Amino acid sequence: MNYPPQVYEFIKKPMRFLEVSIPVRMDNGEVQIFQGYRAQHNDAKGPTKGGIRFHPDVTAEEVKALAGWMSLKCGVTNLPYGGAKGGIVCDPRRMSLGELERLSRGYVRAVSQLVGPTKDIPAPDMYTNAQIMAWMLDEYDQIREFDSPGFITGKPIALGGSKGRETATSKGVLYTLQMVCEIRKMSLKDTKVIIQGFGNVGSYLAQYLYGLGAKVIGIGDALGGLYDENGLDIPYLLDNRDSFGIISNHFSNSITNQELLEKPCDVLIPAAISGVIHKRNAEKINCQIVIEAANGPTTKEALQILDERGILLVPDILANSGGVVVSYFEWCQNNQGYYWTEETVDERLQEKMKESFANVVATAKKYQVNLKIAAYIVGIQQIAEASRLRGWLN
Ligand code: GLU
Repeated sequence: MNYPPQVYEFIKKPMRFLEVSIPVRMDNGEVQIFQGYRAQHNDAKGPTKGGIRFHPDVTAEEVKALAGWMSLKCGVTNLPYGGAKGGIVCDPRRMSLGELERLSRGYVRAVSQLVGPTKDIPAPDMYTNAQIMAWMLDEYDQIREFDSPGFITGKPIALGGSKGRETATSKGVLYTLQMVCEIRKMSLKDTKVIIQGFGNVGSYLAQYLYGLGAKVIGIGDALGGLYDENGLDIPYLLDNRDSFGIISNHFSNSITNQELLEKPCDVLIPAAISGVIHKRNAEKINCQIVIEAANGPTTKEALQILDERGILLVPDILANSGGVVVSYFEWCQNNQGYYWTEETVDERLQEKMKESFANVVATAKKYQVNLKIAAYIVGIQQIAEASRLRGWLN
């Protein structure tokens, strides 16, 4: 892209990074200290934006990388934001609601100087949800002593959340898949799909695809996978999963996530954690199209192998951007104090996904690169241009 070296030097790392220790009184009366992070990658385009994940494997480096991806994602979707990300090292599956509430409030107290509706706007991510956003909002409002719904997105609708936010990421993935089907002259009906992940993204996506007549032949959760080449009974799985999307433990014929990823299908949708398609299994991936619904599910080496094998990959920062797009709509509604109908949200989401997809496809054609590189080109251009115009880099 012929940018001077300082541009790359600048965007390699977050502009700001905060590490916090959060003391939480646990139900047994003891105090436990949790590690938390917030990375703000680049605020040239506007306030920074990105989710907060609660996961035992969260690391500082991961949060920084995810913040960078959020900057690129906001660039690809042309939102007036830079990227951020937060994380707490914890295992919410082993915590009570009371412990989770105290942890969420403790995190906000620890980062409150750095965040806010015109500074940095958090949202849900892995293992965080609308209830956690509600506790965080309440803590922030109490610290600031005024009502500030635009501080956080992915809130419950009763507290200023947007209609359609909960399903937004999965809808965005669905619209992306529909656009890919159009290009490839495939019909979604009877297309065989494997979705790895049965959380907020994977479960709604499975439901929509099932409803549209696609064959969801595999799903994976945090413990394992289920596969049936004739199609899984998605409504049954949705009804019987636990609140963390776990269902595979109900079946004696469950397989591993690794096995699931290598099963034959038309479209493979990793919708869980990072790095699941890597150089050791990329040769064995058995599909025509990979849609990255998770953040960073494919390593760089694996992408090269998929490219050589002619497998089309639609990158995360494009495919899963529906979540942050509707977060932006939520923030706009909070700023306006005027709330949109679900139809309006959905129409505008679809429009945004179409624009972003067309722009990335055109960039890929122009530079003769794959969709991943094309999305990075669009994203980096936006950050670099905004930083340059502010006089930071020249
Ligand atoms: N956590 C989501 C993501 O990775 C949504 C972020 C947001 O809405 O700000 O894109």
